[in-house]
Amino acid sequence: MTHILKLYDTLSKEIKALEPKDNTVRMYHCGPTVYDYPHIGNLRSYVFADTVRRTCEFLGYDVKQVINITDVGHLVSDADTGEDKIEKAAAREGKTAKEISEYFTQIFMENLRDLNIVTTGTQFPKATEYIQEQIDLIKKLEANGHVYKTSEGMYFDVQTFEEYGKLGNIDLKGLEAGKRVELSDEKYSPYDFALWKFSPAGEKRQQEWESPWGVGFPGWHIECSAMSQKLLGETLDIHTGGIDHIPVHHNNEIAQSECVSHKPLSNIWMHGAFLNWKDKKMSKSDGSFIKLSDLSEKGITPLGFRYFLLQSKYRQETMFDEESLLSAQTAYSRLLGRIKAIWAGLADGTDDKILEILTIGLTERITDDLNTAQVLAFLWDTLKNETTVSSLSKKDFETFITKTDAILGLKLVDALTADIVREIPAEIQALFAARTIARNKKDWTEADRLREEIKDAGFEVID
Ligand code: AMP
Ligand code: ZN
Repeated sequence: MTHILKLYDTLSKEIKALEPKDNTVRMYHCGPTVYDYPHIGNLRSYVFADTVRRTCEFLGYDVKQVINITDVGHLVSDADTGEDKIEKAAAREGKTAKEISEYFTQIFMENLRDLNIVTTGTQFPKATEYIQEQIDLIKKLEANGHVYKTSEGMYFDVQTFEEYGKLGNIDLKGLEAGKRVELSDEKYSPYDFALWKFSPAGEKRQQEWESPWGVGFPGWHIECSAMSQKLLGETLDIHTGGIDHIPVHHNNEIAQSECVSHKPLSNIWMHGAFLNWKDKKMSKSDGSFIKLSDLSEKGITPLGFRYFLLQSKYRQETMFDEESLLSAQTAYSRLLGRIKAIWAGLADGTDDKILEILTIGLTERITDDLNTAQVLAFLWDTLKNETTVSSLSKKDFETFITKTDAILGLKLVDALTADIVREIPAEIQALFAARTIARNKKDWTEADRLREEIKDAGFEVID
């Protein structure tokens, strides 16, 4: 490995070198709670996770990657009170909890595919499929003296873990305020959190399980500790999530995992900054909640949106409005056009030296804490530099674009082959029209089936 991948670690607040114990990087990404459509802010988190993965693979590492699917236990308050988000959505829609979580998991997977996020080999474990592992972990925590019982469930006693809150960002004031509100409960400390919640007396939840402590369901945090340990081992190389996870969810994950393993949960903790609509947060109430499909209606393709995201570093809070998204879309189209034009004008042959310089330039930028903004700038500078471009052979240019695209995931390589046009037969056009109608009706199952049928006939639908 000639280049070291330098990443900002939230825990030590320092840039750290990635140093996996073998050639495999084990990474865990906190996944979606599947009770609603992902908004484009949520999706930024997964483009960021994809950039980590792509960069590791670009540098020659193998990657073992897990993105969990939260299909139980995440309560409306994000803490220990309120309804379960999935059960609430199920009641509202007149569906089962399983129907809700399966539907939104499918939408999430479709969004990942449209954003060209690599999922080969990635595991997407569901919390409801790891109940026994979660119970076993709570039992171990109980044996180690970290757990107490209230009338609502089994709680983690943060005072038994000296390092509690080491990831920082704990909002003492906010939690103290929370304490006032919840003072009636039996928690020892406002930081204590539920590991297992009892089903409310006299009420049958759709999703509940027997446990040594009574019928109920796991708390929101325990799934990540249980599943990461089961699938990736006690210490991860990289753990990612959005910055909102720092104060509570990730501090809690650390407490649960480290009180059992007595080892660091992750060597590097990475957090993606938020994507916000101008200067407000994305929220449903004021109509500023934007889905990937909403962008298409404005003429912004998923890859145009991806280009927009890559213009900023993952740690930089980014604001969007329609204008900035549209200008990213235009820049993306220009980029493809430029690559296509250069490609058409190059001759055969090879000159490894320039290719080597370009590869180094690319590597230096991406290994500097995933500076995708600088990678894009470097790509543009290279494409605009007549001297560099004219001294490249067709093959070397193709290699450079392929390498850059391995990091950025913008389907730049397609611009090298796009002039091979095949006529689309009438039956395929009919299938495509039927799929558009199905999508407009939000019949995703039918739309997916038609996409597969088109694929089987040798054509790919690119939205
Ligand atoms: P959730 O489904 O709410 O658990 O969120 C999924 C992921 O999206 C988490 O990693 C969150 O930290 C992240 N996230 C939520 N809102 C935003 C936002 N506006 N911008 C970027 N990431 C976000
Ligand atoms: Zn998590």
